[in-house]
Amino acid sequence: MLSKKNSIISPCNFKGRVKNHAPTSTFSHHSSLHFQLSTLLSTLYTALFTLSTLATPSSPHPTPHTLHATPYTPHPTRHTLHATPYTLHPTRHTPYPCTAEEFFYIPSVSFSLLKTSLNSRARLGLLKTAHGEIPTPIFMPVGTAASVKGVSPRNLTELGAKIILANTYHLHLRPTTPIVAQMGGIHKFCSWDKPVLTDSGGFQVWSLKSLRKIKENGVEFRSHLDGSKHFFSPESVMQSQREIGADIIMAFDECTPYPSTKEEAEKSLAYTNRWTRTAFEYLAKNPPLHGYEQKFFGIVQGGMHPELRIQAIEKLKEINPDGYAIGGLSVGEPAETMYKMAEVCTEHLPQNYPRYVMGVGTPVNLLELISRGIDMFDCVMPTRNARNGMLFTSAGILHYKSARHKTEDIPVDSKCSCYTCKNFSRAYLRHLFCAGEILVLELASIHNLHFYLHLMETAREKIANENFEEWAREQISILQREI
Ligand SMILES: [Zn+2]
Repeated sequence: MLSKKNSIISPCNFKGRVKNHAPTSTFSHHSSLHFQLSTLLSTLYTALFTLSTLATPSSPHPTPHTLHATPYTPHPTRHTLHATPYTLHPTRHTPYPCTAEEFFYIPSVSFSLLKTSLNSRARLGLLKTAHGEIPTPIFMPVGTAASVKGVSPRNLTELGAKIILANTYHLHLRPTTPIVAQMGGIHKFCSWDKPVLTDSGGFQVWSLKSLRKIKENGVEFRSHLDGSKHFFSPESVMQSQREIGADIIMAFDECTPYPSTKEEAEKSLAYTNRWTRTAFEYLAKNPPLHGYEQKFFGIVQGGMHPELRIQAIEKLKEINPDGYAIGGLSVGEPAETMYKMAEVCTEHLPQNYPRYVMGVGTPVNLLELISRGIDMFDCVMPTRNARNGMLFTSAGILHYKSARHKTEDIPVDSKCSCYTCKNFSRAYLRHLFCAGEILVLELASIHNLHFYLHLMETAREKIANENFEEWAREQISILQREI
């Protein structure tokens, strides 16, 4: 449970952090230069935001990018062999595997930091990928096995999802990644033409515990499905992600358990550091298979040891990945510890790259982490909790299975504009659940995903209008209530 006293959104805590952060930040809170920059970026964002709201969510043509605050800088090391002319309109059916001439090039350094809040580290950004642009902060619905449970791609599009996540581990086991490749890559396979991010499988293999054995060059594990033996190396995981064809692919990491001593965390981090470099070097020699660029994100580990997190960031900076993920959070530590680790990381991460906290979390976690400068999130919570009977609403948490909703002829959330709330009552949802009707899984998932996506959309608006912190404080208090 969040302690308001310790919340980073509270002005007193924030003051201390800004002071420490100011000397290294381009966005110093004390200079007039900062004010001018902020005003300029704010104006640019407002113009961009106006443009983006005019586009329909399913528009195949991303917003024009002439307003981006940061200029395009070619990536220093990768993809130089494939620098075909830059276009924002990928074709979906590039031959597989493609040749260098067919390769669809999008510059690697393509995250634009549009604005940083004056009163917290909350940021607005825009991440360009081969399958569309992603405004940040963003929540990514989880489609573990190339399917967001209970929600069709058509519904995801209607919900305004900009990117979904899939798991290399699950796709490696079923249907196997060569089959995904043969089917034209993940976008064609699951009929989703917007961006996809794949997790490397590091976390899933780690969570197998008794079924895995860590070795110098990778992890040997047994499938949770049939006990068959498999081996993941940094190279094999990159190969799998090339076959899958996600727009953003993750380094192969070793998740540090919680709690861990500094020595244990250090040993674990050494694996991640080494494997990340191996993966990066492998990708430099092995370009994408499906004809468009795949962004490579490194993962910051280091347990709950700030000095190791900083060390991990410095190692990653040497590689210069397209984005920085923070792994090993939400693994059993108190929320305040998670926030502190995220804060340590955002103090040291470069400004002009996306930051992604993996596998987190509740709506409250998301708001707290946005205020600390995190841009991207994923979590099974909205869909899993929906299936288990828990819905997030603008008035607090609602358990739709409860008997008190038996005759309640009102929507789950009267302020919500999702398909479920516009058409069905709480009584009907409870009835579906009690009668074992699978429709309830879809309707509940639609509502919860809408809630998460709408929360992120509102957060972006509030950051743009310089009133994010006040709004977030109010939401954090509401979202912990049960109704
Ligand atoms: Zn709803």
